[in-house]
Amino acid sequence: MPPLNVSDDSDAFPLTLGEDPRFCPACGLPLESKLLEEDHRPRLVCPNDHITWRNPRMVVGTLPVKGGSVYLARRAIEPGLGRWTYPGGFLEVGESAQEGARRETEEETDLRVEVGRLIGVYSRPHVGIVTIVFEADVVGGRPEPAAETSEVRAFTPDEIPWDELAFSTVESALRDWVASLPDSGSRFAPELYVTGDPT
Ligand SMILES: [Zn+2]
Repeated sequence: MPPLNVSDDSDAFPLTLGEDPRFCPACGLPLESKLLEEDHRPRLVCPNDHITWRNPRMVVGTLPVKGGSVYLARRAIEPGLGRWTYPGGFLEVGESAQEGARRETEEETDLRVEVGRLIGVYSRPHVGIVTIVFEADVVGGRPEPAAETSEVRAFTPDEIPWDELAFSTVESALRDWVASLPDSGSRFAPELYVTGDPT
């Protein structure tokens, strides 16, 4: 395997959360950055004391596995256009992480899956995203490109296109998956624990 990529295409995109809002979503009055009592960083607060919380967003995905091969999808949109990724996307309010991972997998590949063990949790503090990746058993469907993908195919561990992966989290999750396989000969060792920016 090549050295771990330190950056990827999505780094060129703005923070997933977007710019700080200027007006309160609850009452429409202007927001001001204020340090609240017993808090550790400034918050966006309006004159009515509504706090607009800004927290990382959750991305959930799966490595759909059948017969020892993993299905990857080629992205049809930016970022990472034309490169390979696991199926995944933003978790919706009201979903568990596993439910969201299954929904995204079925939307993007047309495979039917049962979500299984956790592969890893990957933090990307500079873009405000935490990604959770599960292994999933393929239990039906057929690999078809669907929403946001142009091709879906299975790769054995030896065929994984390490130089054509869309994001660093894809590389990390695939490395962790390969390392966890019984015949990989290497001990399980999570690859990418990013340290957050304290400011
Ligand atoms: Zn308000």
